[in-house]
Amino acid sequence: TLRTMLMKFVAQSSQRSTPEKLDKTYHAIAIQKAIHAQELVNYYQPKVRVTDGKIAGVETLVRWHHPVDGVIYPSQFITAAEKCGLIDQLTRTVLVQALEQTKIWQKLGCDLKVAVNVSMDNLTSLGFQDMVVDLAAQANVPASSIVLEITESQLMGDMRVSLEILTRLRLKRFHLSIDDFGTGHSSLAQLRDIPFDELKIDQGFVHRAYEDQTLRAIYDASLALAKQLNMQVVAEGVENRADWELLRQTGCDLAQGNFIAAPMPAEQLGGWIKQWRERIAAESLISH
Ligand code: C2E
Ligand code: MG
Ligand code: MG
Ligand code: MG
Repeated sequence: TLRTMLMKFVAQSSQRSTPEKLDKTYHAIAIQKAIHAQELVNYYQPKVRVTDGKIAGVETLVRWHHPVDGVIYPSQFITAAEKCGLIDQLTRTVLVQALEQTKIWQKLGCDLKVAVNVSMDNLTSLGFQDMVVDLAAQANVPASSIVLEITESQLMGDMRVSLEILTRLRLKRFHLSIDDFGTGHSSLAQLRDIPFDELKIDQGFVHRAYEDQTLRAIYDASLALAKQLNMQVVAEGVENRADWELLRQTGCDLAQGNFIAAPMPAEQLGGWIKQWRERIAAESLISH
């Protein structure tokens, strides 16, 4: 009868649609659509050298330009993309745009290293490494222009696997950067063996480290560790002049943060570089 059919349907559907599963399906559809409709847009944030203010590279930070909800930030969709198995597609989209942009900057004579954030799921997924190598080759961008950033906390998940995969990518000449350092509780012994070129001190230990002893202790220790392991150090989250001065006093290599520049669309970078040069002089941000 109709009633039993309905009952069956209700029973089935309530089985299927636990809130969590529905959520996952909903996210998967939305993210898939965003990728295909090209709603994911790369923004770029400069990394500048503390000694002379020169721009050394940029970090790619993805934004979702949603037609109805406006700009959506990665904290709202990266984890969802990882959970519903779409992170490889997402990273591919980001990387393709970043490579295209790198080529444009290089043609303009702007030799920038371009960093892309990758998740642990990317690194462990079959075919991801070949994809990165192939895309760079197709775009005619040398691997040595690309920096892959991976967070310390994701890295700690499986050190043995991380070590193997990252070593392989380093052998292909990609640069490796350890992101959000200080939040992942790795040890010197664990880090020693992975061929990282760069260590990024988490913004939580940079901003206000000049006035907070606890932050300062972690900042100092991270800086010392990076130097000990011959890595370039980047301080993230430089938000004011006092933050900037601490980096100068302590010999940090690179700085990134809103004091210098917020992430911006690619077209704005040229204009920003001009303004920044003027600001360096006007505000005496470097010593001569
Ligand atoms: P992250 O890689 O550590 O990037 C730094 C985050 O700090 C960015 O947030 C950036 O906009 C923000 N930020 C920059 N300067 C300042 C500052 O002075 N003060 C403060 N408070 N924040 C600052 P965003 O863009 O929201 O990205 C958040 C995280 O999402 C990133 O952290 C990264 O882990 C992840 N993410 C971004 N794009 C991608 C991507 O394409 N793929 C993957 N897998 N993850 C991404
Ligand atoms: Mg990053
Ligand atoms: Mg970070
Ligand atoms: Mg972060």
